[in-house]
Amino acid sequence: MNNHHEYKRKSGIVIAAIFTVVSLIVLLLPGKTLSASDLHTDYPSQSIGETSIKKVTIRSKTSFIVTIKKVKDASGYYVYDISEDGNLTKLTTIKDNFNNSFVVKGLEYGHTYHLVVQAYKKDKKTGAIIKGTYDDNGFTKKLKIKTKYKKGLKFYYDADGKVIKDVEHFLPKKTQYMLKVNTLKCVMTIYAKDGRKGYTIPVKSFLCSPSDHTASGTFRLGTKYRYRTLFYNSYSQWTAVIHGNILFHTTPYKSYGNNNSLDVKEYNKLGTAASHGCVRLQCVAVKWIYDNCPGGTKVVIYRRKKAGPFGKPKLQKLPKWHKWDPTDPTAKNKCRKHGCSHSIR
Ligand SMILES: [Zn+2]
Repeated sequence: MNNHHEYKRKSGIVIAAIFTVVSLIVLLLPGKTLSASDLHTDYPSQSIGETSIKKVTIRSKTSFIVTIKKVKDASGYYVYDISEDGNLTKLTTIKDNFNNSFVVKGLEYGHTYHLVVQAYKKDKKTGAIIKGTYDDNGFTKKLKIKTKYKKGLKFYYDADGKVIKDVEHFLPKKTQYMLKVNTLKCVMTIYAKDGRKGYTIPVKSFLCSPSDHTASGTFRLGTKYRYRTLFYNSYSQWTAVIHGNILFHTTPYKSYGNNNSLDVKEYNKLGTAASHGCVRLQCVAVKWIYDNCPGGTKVVIYRRKKAGPFGKPKLQKLPKWHKWDPTDPTAKNKCRKHGCSHSIR
């Protein structure tokens, strides 16, 4: 009995000694200290980079549009408001890594936000979430607007005094609109009616392609079409008649009803006179007319050296293979598949 006890005690000491030596070897091996990957070979250690906020614009009295620097390999982003004492309040989770800008809704008007964005990555096998580091100063933006009249037009400004170039979401749902096309600068501006003051609110502007001989004048919007043949082998999605055979339409497609047959060369001419008399626009702009402007909506076509109240928007030209309009809401999955970051809202 005694012998047996002694044997057990001795073997215990030997095992403890072996364990200590092995542990020491593992700890002392250069670059081979115990890490997560040694302990769980199934879960390789991963990290994810830091993102940063490039721009925040006010979208409505309860929402921002946040533009960030994307992080490669991220599965999505967390958006927080950081308080003075460093507490994070989650505002939303963006569950993809598609656009470099997104809308953050449900905010409080008048509040000053210190926005923080953190990239995260979801491990496909384990579902574990790896979070990136973040800038704990945040991006400060006050959700407050001011309006001011300038030459009879009502402009919206953010708390930093910067003019807001898309004010649609500040206007009531049943707003009446007017469309003004400057055929010299190739810019269309949408105006909203402000009661008895008339169409005094510039809402937003889009690039267009008219022709140099598109007639100036005041017209009333006619019939609208979802798809339409323009010429032989030339088709449009979303079309609205301005007068006679002069139309608002998308840049031409090579086959009817096919959103994957865009004439890329013609699309890339947006912002220059390129049509046979019609007013070509991006899908987002013609669809906006199609959805928001009933027949009879006032259309003013004019020529002036000043592009319009918001200036001239910039065109992001497309590569040859991009055979769909990046602003076409029916084709946004194509951009997603190709990993191009054309933003659609
Ligand atoms: Zn794209």
